[in-house]
Amino acid sequence: MTLIIDGNLPAAKVREKAREDVQRLKDQAGVQVGLAVVLVGDDPASAVYVRKKEEDCKEVGIYTFDSRLPKDTTQAELLALIDCLNVDPGVHGILVQLPLPLHIDEGTVIDRIAPEKDVDGFTAVSLGRVLRGQEGLRACTPLGIMRLLDFYDIDIEGKHAVVVGRSTIVGKPQSLLLLEKNATVTICHSRTQNLAAMCRQADILVAAVGRAALLGAEYVKPGAVVIDVGINRGDNGLVGDVDFDTVRPVASALTPVPGGVGPMTRAMLIENTVKSAQGTLGVQSPC
Ligand code: NAD
Repeated sequence: MTLIIDGNLPAAKVREKAREDVQRLKDQAGVQVGLAVVLVGDDPASAVYVRKKEEDCKEVGIYTFDSRLPKDTTQAELLALIDCLNVDPGVHGILVQLPLPLHIDEGTVIDRIAPEKDVDGFTAVSLGRVLRGQEGLRACTPLGIMRLLDFYDIDIEGKHAVVVGRSTIVGKPQSLLLLEKNATVTICHSRTQNLAAMCRQADILVAAVGRAALLGAEYVKPGAVVIDVGINRGDNGLVGDVDFDTVRPVASALTPVPGGVGPMTRAMLIENTVKSAQGTLGVQSPC
């Protein structure tokens, strides 16, 4: 029987714990946890993502500071807003919804976010901390996948993990987090030769590509754990990078799309925001 890895269950538990922590911060330290959500332009998909994230925050009692900026906002204006949010004590996390309009350099904007408020885990400092194995805020999707594996008692140590995709926000940090848990990690990408043979070596296969149903049964070793990160809009709704129906009889465990990785990504944003707020307690003035 293939285990269908339900992300909604552990995500609900994360939100439940966050609700308690948010209330405790309020009751014991007088701190109202706050997340600043910055959306530039009118991309409809981004607007939906932002709305869902704000709903999650509301559910657990996190206050959201909503900054909707027009699409012709200059980079200097956006950087000035981030500078302001960085020093606002009521803001514990800053989320800049990507993609940004083309005239704005995403890397420059993201790196302006103070690392202790970088709840998406995208700044160079946060990513560097992953590389070094240092304490810090981790990117939500890779962190959510690690939590998913843990929740379902899936062994990582000594396993061969193959990550397909080498993006800075998913593939690369995912590979490092798996390595940190002592997996042997292979990273595949668009130039990888014979992708199917590489993937068939995987005990844990993570697909983060963005190509609908790219990985079929011939990419999967019998008994492998398959984590599908992909979100692709098809004629019949959302589909992942994994061909669910053909892979299901081969894998020992498999995440569905939707309902697998996605809910955990959202839950990790909440958890990071609470962690960031908890981190402000007991901070001493350097002067
Ligand atoms: P990206 O476009 O930045 O990176 C895609 C990667 O796939 C690249 O590294 C590229 O080398 C590789 N690739 C492209 N074509 C390939 C091929 N034919 N064979 C092998 N590798 C190939 O994308 P991303 O931001 O990493 O996101 C990947 C997918 O995950 C997208 O569908 C995205 O929507 C989805 N995503 C989902 C969540 C979630 O919460 N579920 C979060 C982030 C991203």
